[in-house]
Amino acid sequence: MSSEFSGKVAVVTGGGGVLCSTMAQALADKGAKIAILDLREETAERVAAEIREKGGDAVGVACNVLDLESLKAAHQKVNELLGSCDILINGAGGNHPKGTTSKGFLLAEDLDSTEEGLKTFFDLDPEGIKFVFDLNFIGTLLPTQVFAKDMIGKSGASIINISSMNAFTPLTKIPAYSGAKAAISNFTQWLAVHFSKVGIRVNALAPGFFLTEQNRTLLTNTDGSLTDRGNTIISHTPMSRFGTPDDLTGTLLWLCGDGSQFVTGVVIPIDGGFSAFSGV
Ligand code: NAD
Repeated sequence: MSSEFSGKVAVVTGGGGVLCSTMAQALADKGAKIAILDLREETAERVAAEIREKGGDAVGVACNVLDLESLKAAHQKVNELLGSCDILINGAGGNHPKGTTSKGFLLAEDLDSTEEGLKTFFDLDPEGIKFVFDLNFIGTLLPTQVFAKDMIGKSGASIINISSMNAFTPLTKIPAYSGAKAAISNFTQWLAVHFSKVGIRVNALAPGFFLTEQNRTLLTNTDGSLTDRGNTIISHTPMSRFGTPDDLTGTLLWLCGDGSQFVTGVVIPIDGGFSAFSGV
């Protein structure tokens, strides 16, 4: 069955990951040809193979979104195997422990504490902060420089960035990740304006709290019960649950498709009401 996505080429960075592999599958189900770009070559290949097994057209390409040469090589491969890019999903991103404090609030006694593993704001490693800013921001900027040229003058060209809840209001403990995702929201607006005359729309998804392998131990205990942080999140989420990757796909398809052709520069929370709720 043909759809508005039939034959379009969608490039998904971080496509080997939990959220982006689901988004890639959703676009493939609608007939888009998918390039899964991921640092982990085997994972990229595996996700592409899974899409092909379900009847889709997909290739896995090893690629580091922080390395221009790697991106250029991936671009050439995608052009040869699938054609030029119509849709770019800048999905590669994440946090790093070195950009994370161990407690949400600084107490005066923490300064003299000998507690093992205590990492206050004053102990944060600039290299950890830089890693997180690079991965999320530069890792969105460089793929856009490499793939957006393909999209100029095409109809239905669309870029989707991935922001986060912490871009609206920073989350405790993760100043680097919060700042980097705020930069992504801001960059989404900037790019939307910059590309407005060449027919490329640029929007972002801001996922709320999704239980993934990265955060499972932060949010749940080994017996499946919620940690304190997990409980706090659920009690601040009016819909009282974590998101599942499938929760993203409806908004993704709308933002990439013709139904949103006058929409550019928006950041859409997909969060069960978290960002709308003051907690009271
Ligand atoms: P994930 O870790 O499952 O996927 C990230 C993927 O990016 C991995 O496959 C990884 O190999 C790849 N990657 C890492 N560094 C890379 C690099 N330099 N070059 C190319 N690929 C690289 O993460 P996820 O939870 O699916 O997150 C996807 C996106 O959604 C990220 O931008 C993340 O920040 C964002 N996000 C996630 C959540 C959540 O709750 N999981 C919430 C808000 C936003």
